[in-house]
Amino acid sequence: MKKIVLAIKDNNCASNDACALCGRRTEPSCGPELFLDGTWSLVCHECGEKHAPGLVKLLALARDAEEYFQAQWGGHSLD
Ligand SMILES: [Zn+2]
Repeated sequence: MKKIVLAIKDNNCASNDACALCGRRTEPSCGPELFLDGTWSLVCHECGEKHAPGLVKLLALARDAEEYFQAQWGGHSLD
């Protein structure tokens, strides 16, 4: 069986594609998301858990950090 390699890339928000591995609809958000390495094929977090649990944890951490900053300084821009 071919080894599946996943990568975190910055999602441009333009797509709402099905997961490249299981075909389910993904709920992509802006910013870092899971993709098949070397492609722009979205991968859902369930499949991510199977093939790259470490990357899914990283994504969760990134989301938590973003929410934390929004809660602390939400709405304020730096300009
Ligand atoms: Zn999937």
